[in-house]
Amino acid sequence: MSGKDYVEKDYYKVLGVPKDASATEIKKTYRKLAREFHPDANTGDAKAEERFKDISEAYDVLSDEKRRKEYDEARSLFANGGFRTGGPGTGSYSFDFGDLFSGGQGGGGGGLGDVFGGLFNRGGPRQAQPRRGADVETEVTLSFEEAVDGATVPLRMTSQAPCRLCNGTGAKSGTTPRVCPTCVGAGTVSRGQGAFALSEPCKDCRGRGMIVDDPCPDCHGSGRASSARTMQVRIPAGVQADQRIRLKGKGAQGERGGQPGDLYVTVHVDPHPVFGRKGDNLTVTVPVTFPEATLGATIEVPTLNGPAVKLKLPPGSANGLTMRARGKGATRKDGTRGDLLVTVEVVVPQHVTGDALNALEQYREATASDDPRAALFRAAKGA
Ligand SMILES: [Zn+2]
Ligand SMILES: [Zn+2]
Repeated sequence: MSGKDYVEKDYYKVLGVPKDASATEIKKTYRKLAREFHPDANTGDAKAEERFKDISEAYDVLSDEKRRKEYDEARSLFANGGFRTGGPGTGSYSFDFGDLFSGGQGGGGGGLGDVFGGLFNRGGPRQAQPRRGADVETEVTLSFEEAVDGATVPLRMTSQAPCRLCNGTGAKSGTTPRVCPTCVGAGTVSRGQGAFALSEPCKDCRGRGMIVDDPCPDCHGSGRASSARTMQVRIPAGVQADQRIRLKGKGAQGERGGQPGDLYVTVHVDPHPVFGRKGDNLTVTVPVTFPEATLGATIEVPTLNGPAVKLKLPPGSANGLTMRARGKGATRKDGTRGDLLVTVEVVVPQHVTGDALNALEQYREATASDDPRAALFRAAKGA
């Protein structure tokens, strides 16, 4: 049973009862007609069979108080002739109901499909398609540590939902919106002709296809309400700065049993004063002295979330040498961890005095014969 059936078929006429017929009257008439046109009593009579089907269909709707009410509402909603684009009296329905009922008014759902979905699509064999909820985009800023280890963060999201008071019709309770006579419900009007025709939103109904005479006091006729919800969202460990992650099924609710949409979160990460990030590895630069680099040393290196680790700096370590502290990096998807890449930086003292100065001057004399630039000059001459 589709909306189109409801609009096109006159079930009262099929049963031959007045619109205000009582339930008893409808039942009595149906029984009489059913007996008359029952296939058993009319073997091989295709016309009788067809008539019997129509009678049954009409009775199915009119005998059910709820469905009868919906049917009556639907009929009165479309009874003003707005859909008869073929001109008065032709009875041709060239209007595309598909457009109207698919709620094709763009993302986020809503649209007329919502308004009429509930009205038309109960209990019939042709159910409306379930609609997947909209995808939702949001952003979150994590601390460096949270990005490395994963974090559960509250995300506040506002979304547009149908107004609860009027169920999204925009009409004051007890009233119904009427089809916009300008665009006959399409929401768009064409300007110009032929190849140059432009389709633009209808000004009279602002693209909604319906006109609300008595607006709902809550949404002022828009039919939309802003709803905010706060959700605890788990951001997985190891998320990269400015990465867009997809949380399946955490977007807007689906309609008529449809799947929920997805939530896309763009993650910003605050920089850390000490640690950097290279994929699964963390980076840190550690100052070492000239004697440490020259003679070798065991140095202590801080880690992001745990105790310091000791690393052996080999004798003769060059400035910029990078060492690896295994398993002290960022957590990977599988729970294992990357490494901490430790880069040594030989610090040059700004002021040297006393014993240290004496020692350094002695060192200079002791190494006077070593010219650190000899190789450079040989190479420069192309030797
Ligand atoms: Zn319009
Ligand atoms: Zn409302």
